[in-house]
Amino acid sequence: MTILLNNLSKYYADLAVVKDVSLTIEDGEMFVLLGSSGSGKSTVLRMIAGLVQPDNGRIELHGHDVTYFPPQERGVGFVFQNYSVFRHMTVAQNIAFGLRIRGVSAAAQKERTAELLELVELTGLGDRYARQLSGGQQQRVALARALAYEPAVLLLDEPFGALDVKIRTQLRRRLKEIQRKLHVTTIVVTHDQEEAFELADRIGVMERGELMEVGTAQELYYRPHTTFAATFVGGGNVLAGRMESGQIRLGSVTLPLPEDAPPHDDYAPVRILFRPETVKLQSRPFLPEEPIFPLGKGKVVEHAFVGMTQRLKVELDSLHGVRPLQPRLDFGQGTVSIQCTLLAQETTESMVDQAQIWVGLPHFHVLDQAGMRLLLVVADDAKSRETAVVAQQIAVATGGTITLLGIADDKSDPAVLSQFLRTFHAENLSHAPRVEYRVRQGNHIDLVLLEANEGHHEMVIMPLDDSQEHELLWRLLDAVRIPVLVVPQARPQLNKVLICTAVGEPGKGDIRFGGRIARRARAQVTLLHIDTGNRPLIEQQQAHDFMQKGQALLRAVGVATESIIETAVTPQSGIMQELNAGDYDLLVLGAPVLSKLDSSPDATIINQSDRPVLFVPMLD
Ligand code: ADP
Ligand code: MG
Repeated sequence: MTILLNNLSKYYADLAVVKDVSLTIEDGEMFVLLGSSGSGKSTVLRMIAGLVQPDNGRIELHGHDVTYFPPQERGVGFVFQNYSVFRHMTVAQNIAFGLRIRGVSAAAQKERTAELLELVELTGLGDRYARQLSGGQQQRVALARALAYEPAVLLLDEPFGALDVKIRTQLRRRLKEIQRKLHVTTIVVTHDQEEAFELADRIGVMERGELMEVGTAQELYYRPHTTFAATFVGGGNVLAGRMESGQIRLGSVTLPLPEDAPPHDDYAPVRILFRPETVKLQSRPFLPEEPIFPLGKGKVVEHAFVGMTQRLKVELDSLHGVRPLQPRLDFGQGTVSIQCTLLAQETTESMVDQAQIWVGLPHFHVLDQAGMRLLLVVADDAKSRETAVVAQQIAVATGGTITLLGIADDKSDPAVLSQFLRTFHAENLSHAPRVEYRVRQGNHIDLVLLEANEGHHEMVIMPLDDSQEHELLWRLLDAVRIPVLVVPQARPQLNKVLICTAVGEPGKGDIRFGGRIARRARAQVTLLHIDTGNRPLIEQQQAHDFMQKGQALLRAVGVATESIIETAVTPQSGIMQELNAGDYDLLVLGAPVLSKLDSSPDATIINQSDRPVLFVPMLD
């Protein structure tokens, strides 16, 4: 019996507890839903059983749509965490219960009950009262009862959750054997990773109502796609560096992008995973001929003996500027550290005590390219709401995370601001894939600069109204060197992007960054260069070549592109003319163009344009 879930959703009071879950479970498969408490696992299971009505989506059992069938018509056996046996009935009566209410003959009931008692290894205990049994035995009765009517699908919700570790392990093995023998399609819900790994053919990891990733235990452990799976399953080191010229830049370390790694845009963050037990430590540098990627020289800052293994934490100066997703930086910790696990006998005293230890990786795994990280600076005004519209368009297009930054002055109450951000999120960003909040108190400009500098965002999105915001824009571009998007007025869509570029090598950052957004948004790009006239022929030729190369760069990553060279008295006037003529949704300006805007972004374009403008500082 196959189980198909299609865009299954469930809301309680407007809150999605299950969000668009789609999944196919094969005939005879043992599938485990793994997730922390409250992630929506039980709700999914209950919807399959027919105990909870979905608000959206479809459930098919073996090709039949059963979404609106009552539970008893689905052929589903269910085992709950809390012993759901009838305590006042005998074991045999419990097991036969489902058969009796379905009018199966007494003789057949008896025969089937005996079979099931044997299956769950309770032969001889049929006449006991359920309340006389241990917890583990009661759960076996519950399992036998669920199997009595030969369900096509078996659903177990934390079936061993209330039992102690030893019994849990035994029952797990027994369940697996029974499931194999009966070949019944089974879903087990658990929050216990070990249980999931031991039982499952495949595991689905859930978080906040979403099915984050599906795979075998090995896939989730060694080759996950998402940061969530990488950090939820097992201990791991997940570090975010950046793509630069086809290689991974991690602080002062450069690693090749493995051939089987998922594609990454240039300058995009790259997240690598390596498990603690794969890290290689030694007291001398690695030789070039050793098949190891060196991470540099470190210092053991923590070590713990945990029986068979030793756990070490090693700080590495070479990883300066790298964003550690796991292990996270402790408060006040300035140097990135990694977790290593060694077999106890491999760990020598000197290793632990040594001031220096060389750290290398035999291999590492690259996670899928993450969505763009956007820092959205908002206040309680109409401009902020316009800004949010465009931020949401980009977040949706790039699968990105929006960090909502609210800054309270010294007199206001941060709790009020915090509440405002939540309301702002609900009212303006309800479609954004992921929204986080950041509340700060103090000087507006200083705090935005600080957050932009340290928060590992890829773009700042902000209103541009008063002189303070103009100063902020300038300093973000000049000092932090982060792209900034300002939004005078939102556009209903993001289909046409105008990238204005000076010609020459440093100008490539704007094309790359604008192209990255366009690619994800499936928008069309027009490359524009303004020729202010009186140029020698050779420069005209160079401009032409540059535009051709820019186009090739964009086409190579799948962006539909055209390029125009226009003649105008000033870049500003030429840009304005094209902007109005072409009905663009987003204008991208690179730093070289910027510097010609009277050395200040407070210039004609910003004042005259009602379009969102993205300023890209020199990234090269
Ligand atoms: P899990 O099994 O992963 O712990 P559940 O599916 O039981 O998660 O619950 C997911 C979320 O839905 C929880 O935050 C819970 O509070 C909420 N929830 C579940 N059932 C109800 C209900 N009947 N009414 C309101 N909220 C519910
Ligand atoms: Mg549950």
